[in-house]
Amino acid sequence: MNVENKLKLSQKTFDTWKSVPFKDKQKLLKKLAKVLDRNAEQFGKLITKEMNKPITQSVAEIKKCALMVRYYADAENILKSEQIKTEFRISEIHYIPKGVILGVMPWNFPFWQAIRFAVPAILAGNTVVMKHASICFGSGNAIEKIFLEAGFPKGVFQNLEIGHAEVKKVLEHPIVKGVSLTGSEKAGAEVAAIAGKNIKKSLLELGGSDAFIVLDDADFASAAEAGAKSRLLNCGQACNAAKRFIIQKNVEKEFLSLFIQEYQKFVAGDPLKKKTNMAGMARPDLADELEQQYNKALKNGAEIILPLQRISENEFVPGLIKVKAGNSILQEELFGPLGMVMIAKDDQQTIKLANNIPFGLSDSVWTKDKKRQQFYIDHLESGTVSINKATSSDPRLPFGGAKSSGYGTELSMVALREFVNVRTVVGK
Ligand code: NDP
Repeated sequence: MNVENKLKLSQKTFDTWKSVPFKDKQKLLKKLAKVLDRNAEQFGKLITKEMNKPITQSVAEIKKCALMVRYYADAENILKSEQIKTEFRISEIHYIPKGVILGVMPWNFPFWQAIRFAVPAILAGNTVVMKHASICFGSGNAIEKIFLEAGFPKGVFQNLEIGHAEVKKVLEHPIVKGVSLTGSEKAGAEVAAIAGKNIKKSLLELGGSDAFIVLDDADFASAAEAGAKSRLLNCGQACNAAKRFIIQKNVEKEFLSLFIQEYQKFVAGDPLKKKTNMAGMARPDLADELEQQYNKALKNGAEIILPLQRISENEFVPGLIKVKAGNSILQEELFGPLGMVMIAKDDQQTIKLANNIPFGLSDSVWTKDKKRQQFYIDHLESGTVSINKATSSDPRLPFGGAKSSGYGTELSMVALREFVNVRTVVGK
């Protein structure tokens, strides 16, 4: 079916789907979760084949999708009409689904990102068309099939096999009423500009350069293990990965020695083998870009703690560099196995370093002191602040960015209200 016909089907399905009771939609979500669980190994292999994620992490991604779908399958209906007390006989808030919503999705979590966007939008009564990353069309088609297998009407979720140059035409189409994009700042800005010009809602989940802050009273062993994992899972290709490790000066040596030990446990291997904890990057051009960023950082004064070593067209021995404020690399996202270490003398300087970047996605702070925890909660400029744990998204909690990391909320009950119009009904 061509794109025009897919959009028409999506609109036609929306006209009936919007009136299906919330509870009935949730019954289909329960089936969707079962299909995901049942086929976790098969879909996991598909992810690994398409973008190189180690198989245990790919299968875990599918299981996490099932968990999230179940969360929405059991969610309270917060889209019911609400009565508001006023002097009028009728005064109500109604939540009306917008219609056909476009998803533009990335390759780094090919099932999670797509399903995370689609499920709350669909439960709210919308239908969805998705443009997946060009290397993940297999995942996109598989997700369309999963929705059909779970019993969703044809046209509730459709995959569009299009390149990014065609996104403009789809988003400008009168049938499409909004867009959700997860990906780079550049793609987000271009897509949001098209949405803005056409007065359509956009939600952007973009990059980050999150701080992982280790203070002198932290549990260093736990922080070292969690920090290395957070930087290097999925070969460092996660928006909310820890990318800058800001360490308090008086514990620099003690923490770094533990951290380096944990870091060196990540070794590139065959992504289809269960024991592999890291594989190659998703595409060779992304590895080229990371190498260029590494060289740029060094040229601007960064010092090598562990050299970034390229061992094949897309594999690396992970690198770690010490970076000082003012290095222009801090304005960029490092989307691969390269971490930055920064040293701060006290809490004031730590906050300054942590916030002095264009992004604001999900910082993590390690300290046992409750007062200091509160100080960081109050002063960090990010969508999530995690205390004594690395950031990881949780279906029950909102996920979204501040500053150039984007706007809008995914996950939790908040996401259910992202693609609805809020209608006031009032009368005597
Ligand atoms: P992109 O942002 O380019 O790709 C993400 C999605 O957006 C893909 O579906 C892509 O399609 C689409 N896209 C790209 N450009 C446009 C455009 N101008 N208009 C409409 N759609 C567009 O990511 P890359 O694959 O190029 O990765 C580059 C960088 O992006 C990474 O190094 C990282 O910094 C960041 N990134 C961040 C992610 C996150 O989770 N926050 C996820 C992925 C990347 P197509 O594949 O056809 O180009």
